[in-house]
Formats: sequence, structure tokens, C-alpha cells
Amino acid sequence: MEVDYLEPTTVAEASELLKQREGGKALAGGTAVVLMMQQGLLFPEALISLRNIDGLSAINADDGVISIGSAVTLHEIASSSLLLARTPSLARACGLVGNIRVRSQATLGGNLAEGDYASDPPTVLAGLDATVVAESGRGERTIPAGDLVTGFYETALKPDEIITRVDVRALAPDERAVYLKYVSRSSEDRPCVGVAARARFADGAVEELSVVVGAVASSPQRFRNVEADAVGTRLDSSVIERLADGYSQEISPLEDARGSAWYRKRMIRVFVKRALADLASNDSANQ
Ligand SMILES: Cc1cc2nc3c(=O)[nH]c(=O)nc-3n(C[C@H](O)[C@H](O)[C@H](O)COP(=O)(O)OP(=O)(O)OC[C@H]3O[C@@H](n4cnc5c(N)ncnc54)[C@H](O)[C@@H]3O)c2cc1C
Repeated sequence: MEVDYLEPTTVAEASELLKQREGGKALAGGTAVVLMMQQGLLFPEALISLRNIDGLSAINADDGVISIGSAVTLHEIASSSLLLARTPSLARACGLVGNIRVRSQATLGGNLAEGDYASDPPTVLAGLDATVVAESGRGERTIPAGDLVTGFYETALKPDEIITRVDVRALAPDERAVYLKYVSRSSEDRPCVGVAARARFADGAVEELSVVVGAVASSPQRFRNVEADAVGTRLDSSVIERLADGYSQEISPLEDARGSAWYRKRMIRVFVKRALADLASNDSANQ
């Protein structure tokens, strides 16, 4: 089957092509699209490459907000000195994706738009309260990262929308964040469980907390009722145990080749506990 390969030079043009070509597919790094085509799971009538569109490949900081272009690769994020200093858990999460060949090719926009439940970036971005900016002929809109993945391989994006960038706030001096990835098979695998936790402390007590668990359901899981239990406390071992129990009880995990629901429930408890203990410690290595 023949596939048209199109190279628009603006987001507006790419969006218009996606609207016109119903069977068209945006192409960024191609690590998901090309693999699916090779496996006979995807038959696009046109590939709409985003590589010639200017302005999607930069990382910029402005007034405490860091904007990451959708075409920035996961390796560029993992090795960015700006991101390592100001949103280290994001850089760390991207550095844990697959292997160096995948990370060098895969883009942040492609990872998010794929909507795979077993991805690392959507979990960490939801935990950092990042926003995803999508553009189409109708203009631009922002989607909270935690609302982007809506189901198995489904996202809040409209068919003609292109992710142009992700905005993430730099951590404040009194804030810590961590991402822990648990793999149950090879070290290069997707997560069995991923936990992103972020806390802001005032006088040693938690002022604000977010805990997001990924790869255990169709989309990243966050329970504000459980998080609220820690606010105003010193995040000691009894609070950490309560939160870990809370997340393990609230989530009804899926089953796949990486683990049964029974196993995942136990690993959620272990990794929420480890992530919170990490935040509570003075060890800044994982910040
Ligand atoms: C061996 C292997 C191991 C992997 N391990 C992991 C892992 O451990 N953790 C993890 O998180 N991921 C993992 N992945 C998935 C990988 O991260 C994704 O395939 C990759 O991020 C997709 O990005 P891409 O630029 O290659 O997207 P593409 O393949 O080009 O596109 C993916 C999807 O996004 C759409 N798209 C692309 N860019 C945009 C945009 N800007 N706006 C709107 N839609 C867009 C495309 O139409 C397509 O539907 C792995 C993949 C492989 C092959």
C-alpha cells in the first residue's frame, strides 16, 4: 500500500492536512508510528511529518515556567542542564525511557499523543501539574497534563490538533519531586508501575503534595482525597504508610505481561512509600 509523505512547514498547515486527510497520521520521531506500520497495526494513507516545522524543538525558560517544544527528544530532556537543575524528576523520567536509541529519536509530543498507559512522561508531567499546549486551525488551547490521556491509547486531542509544547513550572527552593519507575522484566522495558511525587514544605511540614501513579490503569491515577491526608503533617513514616495504603486501595490495577492486578497493588504500595520517603529525606539526589 502506498503512503503519501507530506512535509508541512507550519503547524496550521499540518493541522489542515490532518483535517483533509482522514487517514493521515502526524509523524514525529516515528518510534511508535513506524513500529505499528511494520507490525501491520496501522495503515495511514498519509504521513504528515512535523520535522520541518520551526519552533517545536526548543526548550525555553521564562519567569519560572519552562516551555519544552513537542519535537524535543526524550534524550534532550534527560540531558538538559536547565531541566536537570529546575525540574529534575522530569529529566530523570525521560532518561529512564526504553534505551538510548529510542530516547534519541522519540519526542515528548509523540510520547504524549500516543496515549500509551505504560509510558513514563505522562505520569511525571501530571505530578508536576504541567500543561500541554495543542494547536489547530481553531487556535491554541491548553490541556492539564493529568487530563491528556483519557483511555487506552486515547487522548483529549482532537484529530486535527498538534501538540506544540509542554509548559512546566520550575521547582521552588522549598519543593522536591521524584519519579520512580519499577520494571518487572528487562531494564529497558516500559514501567510496571511509575510513581511521580512532589511536595512543597514549609517549616518541615507538607504544604502541598501530589502523588500520581502511572502504568497501572488506562491513564495516570491521582487521588486528591488521599494526598490531602498529608497536608500540614511532617511526612513521617506513619503518614507515608497511610498514603501508600490509600493509593494501593483506591487503584484497581490492570493486568498485563508486566504484572497481575494482585502484584501491581503490592508494588503500588511499595513504590508510593519509597517515593514519599525520598521526598521526606534530605537526600537531594533524586530531586
Ligand atoms: C523499544 C521501545 C521501548 C520503549 N520504552 C518506553 C518506556 O520505557 N517508557 C515510555 O514512556 N515509552 C517507551 N516507549 C515509547 C516511546 O517513548 C514512544 O514510542 C515515543 O515517545 C513516541 O514518540 P515519537 O516522536 O517517536 O512519536 P511518533 O511515533 O512519531 O508518533 C506517536 C503518536 O503521536 C502522534 N504525534 C506525534 N507527534 C505529535 C504532535 N506533536 N502532536 C500530535 N500528535 C503527535 C502520532 O501521530 C502518533 O499517533 C518505547 C518505545 C520503543 C520502541
